[in-house]
Amino acid sequence: HVLPPNEDDARWAGLSRAELEAYWMPFSGNRQFKDDPRMIVGAHDCYLRSADGRDILDTLSGLWCCSFGHGRSEIAEAIGRCAKELAYSPPFQFGHPMAFQLANRVRELTPDGLDHVFFTNSGSESADTALKMAKAYWRLKGRPEKTRMIGRIKGYHGVNVGGTSVGGIVGNRKHFGSLMESDHLSATLLPENRFSRGTPEHGVHLADQLEELVGLHDASNIAAVVVEPMSGSAGVIVPPAGYLKRLREICDKHDILLVFDEVLTGFGRTGSDFGATLFGVTPDIMTLAKNITNGAVPMGAVVSSAEIYRTFMDNGGPDYVPEFPHGYTYSAHPIACAAGLAAMDIFEHDRMAERAGAMAPYFEEQVHQLKGLRHIVDIRNLGMAAAIQLEPHPREATRRPFEIAMRCWEKGMYVRFAADTIQLGPPFIVEREQVDQMCNILADVIPTID
Ligand code: PLP
Repeated sequence: HVLPPNEDDARWAGLSRAELEAYWMPFSGNRQFKDDPRMIVGAHDCYLRSADGRDILDTLSGLWCCSFGHGRSEIAEAIGRCAKELAYSPPFQFGHPMAFQLANRVRELTPDGLDHVFFTNSGSESADTALKMAKAYWRLKGRPEKTRMIGRIKGYHGVNVGGTSVGGIVGNRKHFGSLMESDHLSATLLPENRFSRGTPEHGVHLADQLEELVGLHDASNIAAVVVEPMSGSAGVIVPPAGYLKRLREICDKHDILLVFDEVLTGFGRTGSDFGATLFGVTPDIMTLAKNITNGAVPMGAVVSSAEIYRTFMDNGGPDYVPEFPHGYTYSAHPIACAAGLAAMDIFEHDRMAERAGAMAPYFEEQVHQLKGLRHIVDIRNLGMAAAIQLEPHPREATRRPFEIAMRCWEKGMYVRFAADTIQLGPPFIVEREQVDQMCNILADVIPTID
């Protein structure tokens, strides 16, 4: 897809090919991008603006993080005000009011029992913070040997060492040698669940694997089980009916903490406020990020149970000494808190979770209309999240989703491709016509790829 030279200039946004080399792009094929750049120079509502002047339909809310729509002026104004008044405030041993206000907003929204909010700057930092919190908790309880973490195959918990360890995406792990002590449950993908709509029927028994891992490692060595209530990054893997409840029961039976990574599912994606709310299962620790600021400023959060917080407070030594020796220069950054408060206003006042829930049946119906097209071997969905799984290309297993995404970009649509899936997670403000457009473009493109 070579464009004429005059359009080429616009696509490079005034940068030379050589200048593109200075930026080492994350999770990107740098060589391919720099030969064929896809520059984004603006965004509003459900659209990204490309450097060559096109409005591109955003089918993934950025990276699942701008779920209330791009360019929210309330957030921009809050950021601007804060940048003038308090662009930075030291977070260790000193505080600013917005951090406490935002913690209370998050606490009110999260399920009862999750009461104390520790701020980070990303989902990855939230994952590693949660793991350190779990380990330190057991040490304070006099059980320092409880250190092993149980994750799940195909789970994604960001890219820091702890999150990479409990994560279960081989491509993200294999380059990095030995990581933290962990073990993994199976992914909950079963052939009999293919093309399920919403929660799949089969597979609650997969939760019983946790008993096997307890049998292998002994509960006295296990700190926590870490799962996404719905895996997003590995291609929208929805837990089978009853699965999360069963995990909760087994964790309770053996004194193992349950951590829900709600970085992606938090604040409405499933049509409920949180995955925990939807599935009626409350973890001991919940991690958050992404929508907490509607993607406008990096921020994450770890929400702990009262029991965990109290254990730290009651065993903390002199009262001026940090009970949890952990934190970041930018923990509870004022600009992130200002953005977070404005995003929480939008989330509540515009009833974003309900809006996602109201559009979800139409979205499900349209996405499942793609069943039967060449290459498609599974379609999965929950709330405003869906993934289309493609048959692997005979020579390069992950080539097809990439080719499809490139073809969609040419046609004015951004889709995320990862491994063998195309993932869809549009902003909750998406209209039916835009859902139609999304599915029509995919229906045009997918069968024409080799
Ligand atoms: N956990 C989950 C469930 C995620 O989906 C992601 C990002 O996609 C992360 C953690 C990592 O978040 P971040 O990229 O902000 O570090």
